Amino acid sequence: MEKDLGCIFCKIVAGELPAAKLYEDDKTLAFMDINPINDGHALIIPKAHRETLFEMDADTLSAVSRTTLKVATAVKEALAPEGLNIFQANGAVAGQTVFHFHFHVLPRNSNDRLKITLHGNPTIDQQDIQQLAENIRQAISVPADQN
Ligand code: AMP
Ligand code: ZN
Repeated sequence: MEKDLGCIFCKIVAGELPAAKLYEDDKTLAFMDINPINDGHALIIPKAHRETLFEMDADTLSAVSRTTLKVATAVKEALAPEGLNIFQANGAVAGQTVFHFHFHVLPRNSNDRLKITLHGNPTIDQQDIQQLAENIRQAISVPADQN
């Protein structure tokens, strides 16, 4: 299992740091966030050290997604929140503070502590969107073994 010696999540995987564990299997681990935004805030990680989404392979991402579904379903059953967000950050500018890939499971209730507002740009030219789509389409290439 790839490990980064300075990484706090690798230390949790290795049992060198404590955590309120929820679930684990051979590839993934889920535990409670130490500084929760809302009650039930949980994290799901690959056991192998991967900094961001861009170091993940499809198998590892599938395993982490399966565990995320399991944990989110259990949080919904146990705590009955009104809603729930899944959040994942890549890079400091995106809000990442621990550089070991993780999904946040964030139970939501009205007037809770989390404020997510996705204010779009209503003045963007539709032709600009078409051009951006073309640039991205050109960049999409899926190797056969990742299908
Ligand atoms: P992010 O800002 O998306 O990188 O999220 C990192 C999360 O890890 C934050 O919500 C922290 O509260 C949480 N965190 C940091 N250290 C620990 C720890 N030792 N155990 C559990 N959660 C942690
Ligand atoms: Zn790590």
